[in-house]
Amino acid sequence: MKIKQEKSHQAKQKQKQLEKQEERALRSERAMVAGIMEGSPEAVGVAVIRFECGCRKMAAVAKDGEPASKVIMYRDKAESICPKCKKDNGAFSRVTESFIDWQDNELDDDLKMELTIKVLGTDAIVH
Ligand SMILES: [Zn+2]
Repeated sequence: MKIKQEKSHQAKQKQKQLEKQEERALRSERAMVAGIMEGSPEAVGVAVIRFECGCRKMAAVAKDGEPASKVIMYRDKAESICPKCKKDNGAFSRVTESFIDWQDNELDDDLKMELTIKVLGTDAIVH
């Protein structure tokens, strides 16, 4: 009985750790988005592509769907992206999530949808 309790305690601790990691990753993702927006005056949002390995690809998006910044790849708390991403430059097959973080509240939903398809493709709509 005691062993079981300890195990579940450990599992809880692990779960908590994972949640903290995820929280931290989201915070730094938001900071990156803010930084990209600052450097891209004509951007209306930032495309965020998350990979299964934890790396992220981001680029500012202009109102016409063209990139408004360079594509930035980064890995939270790391000097550089992981070896896998270095090799395949963030392959589509390893994408876990992609969306546009809109920063312009005046954009209407139709335009957002249109830009999302233009920038990320129709696969992004489900998320
Ligand atoms: Zn990676």
